[in-house]
Amino acid sequence: MSKHETVKPTNFIHQIIEKDLAEQKVAGGQVITRFPPEPNGYLHIGHAKSICLNFGTAEKYQGVCHLRFDDTNPEKESQEYIDAIAEDVRWLGFKWAGDIRYTSDYFEQLHQWAVYLIEQGKAYVDSLSAHEMREFRGTLTEPGRNSPYRERSVEENLELFERMRNGEFDEGDCVLRARIDMAAPNMNLRDPVIYRIRKAHHHQSGDKWCIYPSYDFAHGQSDAIEGITHSICTLEFEDHRPLYDWFVENLPVPAQPRQYEFARLNLNYTVTSKRKLKLLVEEKHVAGWDDPRMPTISGLRRRGFTPASIRNFCEMIGVTRSNGIVDMGMLEAAIREDLDANAPRAMCVTRPLKVTISNFDAGAEEWFELPAHPKDESMGLRKVPFTRNLLIEQEDFAEEKPRKWKRLAPGDAVRLRGSYVITCDEVIKDEAGSVVELICSYDPATRGENPTGYKPNGVIHWVSADNSVPCEVRLYDRLFTEANPDGDKERDFHAFLNPESLEVLTESRAEIGLKHAVAESHYQFERLGYFSVDRDSDESRLVFNRTVTLRDSWAKIQGK
Ligand code: ATP
Ligand code: MG
Repeated sequence: MSKHETVKPTNFIHQIIEKDLAEQKVAGGQVITRFPPEPNGYLHIGHAKSICLNFGTAEKYQGVCHLRFDDTNPEKESQEYIDAIAEDVRWLGFKWAGDIRYTSDYFEQLHQWAVYLIEQGKAYVDSLSAHEMREFRGTLTEPGRNSPYRERSVEENLELFERMRNGEFDEGDCVLRARIDMAAPNMNLRDPVIYRIRKAHHHQSGDKWCIYPSYDFAHGQSDAIEGITHSICTLEFEDHRPLYDWFVENLPVPAQPRQYEFARLNLNYTVTSKRKLKLLVEEKHVAGWDDPRMPTISGLRRRGFTPASIRNFCEMIGVTRSNGIVDMGMLEAAIREDLDANAPRAMCVTRPLKVTISNFDAGAEEWFELPAHPKDESMGLRKVPFTRNLLIEQEDFAEEKPRKWKRLAPGDAVRLRGSYVITCDEVIKDEAGSVVELICSYDPATRGENPTGYKPNGVIHWVSADNSVPCEVRLYDRLFTEANPDGDKERDFHAFLNPESLEVLTESRAEIGLKHAVAESHYQFERLGYFSVDRDSDESRLVFNRTVTLRDSWAKIQGK
């Protein structure tokens, strides 16, 4: 899919907006969208799709996009999540118009509108228990029944609602419901709850309220207050749209927003639900919300994904109304494409094997210059020292070489990338019989030249053992062993956690130029993949996360 430039992704929302603009149906002529996260966890890649759609759409049509926290469930929400979400949106490169907004900013207005509905005979306080309410609600095939409290007078409802607000009732004693139709085929219209009692401290409004509006009551009205022209959400809200419209039609709201639904993003080999991701964090299956294995935006960032790669990915997948599962390989293709063009090259030996160059003086150093990027001269050159003690990758040596071996073997020669050709003269083993060191000789005539009279097997990467940077390398694999960890009827997603999703290599060494590499900088370690500096790095130790391998390993896994 890296050829996505040639594929025109569909975005039906843009088609709607273009039509609305052409027909002058956009109030004020300016498109206003919003991204409305609930601050009850960190954002994941699915949210990135929504962010790119909402902010991207506003940008495309010279409109604006609001960041509004949909904070109507105080017990589950926190400032930590608010800060993390705002940071994710900023990092992706989007700017919201004005200040951060909160549904809680509108609690006063929403309350007034609830009172208005009561006055119009369109809302009532119901004192059924939660259990009874469920029974009265009916089912998809049977209509519901009216609550015995449905005919309370306006005065009584006003008084009870006021007492709810004043904290005179306990949670669950009563709720305020819209009075619509208990027989409506759409369950959402069967007198939905619009206010409930929650004696909880709110991260924004403090202890001012002990009643909180429901999502359905708050959302459309908040859109109306903000003059949102296109309220874009995921398909599971399609059945809520009639209710969204009912409130907008039955309240004296200042604008008439419209809701449009698109298919949520699902990715294979992971889960995209804040609730499930929260469990992974709480149960310590991962190191935190930003663990590089997590499909969270902060996890992807730490893994080494760039904002551009995530935005490109969201562009590639398009916006439609049909649900599907996107291959993780597509997300990886997006980051590979970005880093292939933009990440400087470097060498790092992850599992080192000692190589001693017997004919090179101890203490001597000979420097080689290599391009930082093979296709981009503007990135300049990097310098690597050749010394007597070198390190190569353990897997680049085979005592008994397989057929077509392109690396080092006893008696054979290889080129050390960007420097000399060496020949393996002697293999040293420990008592257990493992190879611990190779004694090699270098050919001084091979600096920038082919050897005469023999042919090296191939080219391998290397670093100087005497002059390189110690580092830790963290290799990541899929978080789940199943493509659809949520798809099993008997076992829940925990059963499919991959016990080998993280491998930590502590003996690695990178070329000396990386000594001062800063957190979040990206490199291609030649032959190994793309890596990014983790923020766990300090003076004594650099830590690299492997963002992605050089080639698509997912396709192989899935037997393509
Ligand atoms: P989750 O189930 O992960 O908690 P959510 O829908 O409850 O997701 P919100 O914070 O309410 O999370 O979502 C903010 C916005 O992001 C909503 O408009 C929602 O429709 C959208 N969104 C959430 N998940 C996805 C997804 N997988 N793909 C696209 N958009 C999404
Ligand atoms: Mg939600």
